[in-house]
Amino acid sequence: MIKVEHLSKKFGNLVVLEDVNIEIREGEVISIIGPSGTGKSTLLRCINLLERPSGGSIFIDGVDILDSKTDVPKIRQKMNMVFQSFNLFAHLSVMDNLTIAPVKLLGKSKKEAEESAMKILTLVGLADKACNFPDELSGGQKQRVAIARCLAMEPEIILFDEPTSSLDPTMVSEVLSVIRRLAKDGMTMVIVTHEMDFARDLSNRVLYMDEGVIYEEGTAAQIFDNPLKEKTRAFINRIRSINYHINSPRYDPHTMSAEIEAFCEKQILPLKTRQNLLFIVEEILRIYIPHLYTTSLEMTLAYSEKKQSVELVFESGGEAMNPLDKNLLPDESAESPVWSMMQSIDYQRVNDKNRVTLILH
Ligand code: ADP
Ligand code: MG
Repeated sequence: MIKVEHLSKKFGNLVVLEDVNIEIREGEVISIIGPSGTGKSTLLRCINLLERPSGGSIFIDGVDILDSKTDVPKIRQKMNMVFQSFNLFAHLSVMDNLTIAPVKLLGKSKKEAEESAMKILTLVGLADKACNFPDELSGGQKQRVAIARCLAMEPEIILFDEPTSSLDPTMVSEVLSVIRRLAKDGMTMVIVTHEMDFARDLSNRVLYMDEGVIYEEGTAAQIFDNPLKEKTRAFINRIRSINYHINSPRYDPHTMSAEIEAFCEKQILPLKTRQNLLFIVEEILRIYIPHLYTTSLEMTLAYSEKKQSVELVFESGGEAMNPLDKNLLPDESAESPVWSMMQSIDYQRVNDKNRVTLILH
C-alpha cells in the first residue's frame, strides 16, 4: 500500500532522515518508537506530504507521490494524520470540525456529511458532544474528536504522531481504546508512540528509529524482548526504568516519591506494589544515609514485563562491603518488615562499586 524507498530529508545542513525504507501493507498496524529528535515526526510529515522530502521515493498504491504529475490532494485524501496537539478548529463546533472537509473536499452534501459525522462520533463515544466547542472538552475528548475528524475523510490509512503524549495520564486509555477499535476494524495505521504496552499488543511490526534511519525492525516480541542491536536494547531498557543519583544525605524525598509514583502509573503497577515500593525505597535509603556523607548512590528502578517483577538496584562507592548486610545493621533496621517484601537480595562488587539488587515480591 505504501512503499518508502531511500527517503532522505534535510533542513539546511541538518540531515534528519538518511535512508529510510519501509513497506506497509493493507491492514497492517505499524508502531514507530525511538528517542526524540530522531526524525519520527518528520518521517510521517514526509509520507503525508506536509514536508517535501530531499530525496527518495514514496509510492502509494503504486503511484509515486513525489512525481510532479501526481494529483497530490487526491493522494493526501487517502491518508490522514492525527497530531499530538489535536489541531481542532477552535471556532467551530465538534460537528462542524467533522463536516467542513468532507463538504469542501469530498463534495458531500451537508446533510450527508452530518449523518456520517454522527455515526463516527458514536463510534468514538462522543455523540452527545456534537454541538460543543473544542474548549468545552477534555484533552482525551479533543483527541477523540480529532480522530473522528480524520475518519470523516474516509482515509485508507491513518498516521498518528504521538496521539497521547499531551494528555493527562487518566485520559490516555480512552484515546488508545479508540485506536484499538480501529485496528480491530482493519484500518491501516502507522503510530508513533511512547506507549510501549499498547504498541506491543497492537502492532504487526515495530520500527525502532534512531539518528534518521530505521535502526531495527521486527515483531513486537522481537523488538521489546529480544532486540538484536545495542542501541535498541538500551532504549527499551531506559524507557522501562528510572534512575536516581543521590549525592547528599539531604536529597529531596518528595520529588523522588512523586517520580516513582509516576513511573508506577506508567507501567500500570498495582496499588499494592506501588505502596510497597515507596516503603522499601524509604527504608533502604534510611540505611544508606550515613554512607552518603562519604560516597554517592545510584538507584535504578526497573520493571520487567516478562518476569512481572520490579527490580531495584543500588550502587554505591567506598570499600568493598554490602551496605544492606543485616549483620551490620542496627536492630531496628535489621528487624524492619521491609525484608519480607523482597523475593531476593543479591550483593556484588562490580567496577569498584557495591551493587545490591533487590527483587520485589
Ligand atoms: P521526533 O519526532 O523523532 O522527535 P522530529 O522529526 O520532530 O523528531 O525532528 C527531527 C529533527 O529535525 C530535530 O533535530 C528537529 O529539530 C529537526 N526539525 C524538525 N522540523 C524542522 C524544521 N521545520 N526546520 C528545521 N529543523 C527541523
Ligand atoms: Mg515527534
